[in-house]
Amino acid sequence: MATIIDGKAVAQDLRGKLAERVKDMKASGVVPGLAVVLLGDDPASRSYVTAKEKSCEELGMYSRDIRLPAETSEEDLLKLIGELNGDEAIDGILVQLPLPSHIDEQKIIVAIDPSKDVDGFHPMSVGRMLLEQDTFLPCTPHGILKLLEYSGISARGKKVVVVGRSNIVGKPISNLMFQKQSWGNATVTVCHTGTADLKKETLEADILIAAAGRPEMITGDMIKKGAVVIDVGVNRVEDSSKKRGYRLCGDVAFDQACESASFITPVPGGVGPMTITMLLFNTVKSAEARLG
Ligand code: NDP
Repeated sequence: MATIIDGKAVAQDLRGKLAERVKDMKASGVVPGLAVVLLGDDPASRSYVTAKEKSCEELGMYSRDIRLPAETSEEDLLKLIGELNGDEAIDGILVQLPLPSHIDEQKIIVAIDPSKDVDGFHPMSVGRMLLEQDTFLPCTPHGILKLLEYSGISARGKKVVVVGRSNIVGKPISNLMFQKQSWGNATVTVCHTGTADLKKETLEADILIAAAGRPEMITGDMIKKGAVVIDVGVNRVEDSSKKRGYRLCGDVAFDQACESASFITPVPGGVGPMTITMLLFNTVKSAEARLG
């Protein structure tokens, strides 16, 4: 039976360490500040944003909550970003994605000052990551690295298979996994909808990272005995037995996977809590840079 990687416990430990750093900075007169910008009232985005703000406050950080109507123009949003870039109380700027279709997401990401790009989505941050230079790593991939580290799992010399090639998860985590760094040095295969035989690839994985957004698509027979399984997917599946009418599940069929995997992350409670934690980590890092 697989060992469950407890993302909540790892996140709590890391947040405890961050709270200490926040306390030290406050003693020097600096309070790390995060601006969270949300357009519209999509329920999933609203709940992510609320969780981010709450976590910020729990750590003693300053959180500025900016809620705008979905009809906000691109021009007004760019103006707001410009103001936040120049605001000394703000160390990190997060614009909750996806944005309404009349706004060019890339234009907004590029407008954020790279020194406040705590999501790690700015081309400057992405480029620095590729070049293995110090930067803000994107939060979900960074969280995965921490989960592996806390679980004593080294990727070095292993075969890592990533399912998904999005800009926020698949691309960065596959890159980090092969970097010649303590967290990497693996041989990486990236799968996507153009992959001819997905099962053939996943069966090769010593570490399998599923980030496709397809409920329970990775079944037990796709997992090699002893593999480490990191399930990034968060999917809502209709379930009339639940009061809210749905249940959350990952991209991996959890019960089946537990039969073959050596380690596995649950959904919820695996990668999810780490994403917000690494956002806080990046905001503290930015504030420390401001403090010098
Ligand atoms: P995207 O939809 O942007 O990307 C999905 C990727 O998976 C694409 O590259 C797509 O391939 C690939 N894919 C989809 N279906 C298949 C398939 N049948 N076979 C092989 N590859 C497939 O998703 P994200 O990366 O943004 O998110 C992935 C999942 O992770 C979602 O469930 C999301 O909710 C979750 N997530 C969780 C986070 C957390 O904190 N826990 C944070 C971010 C995301 P192609 O490129 O060919 O289309």
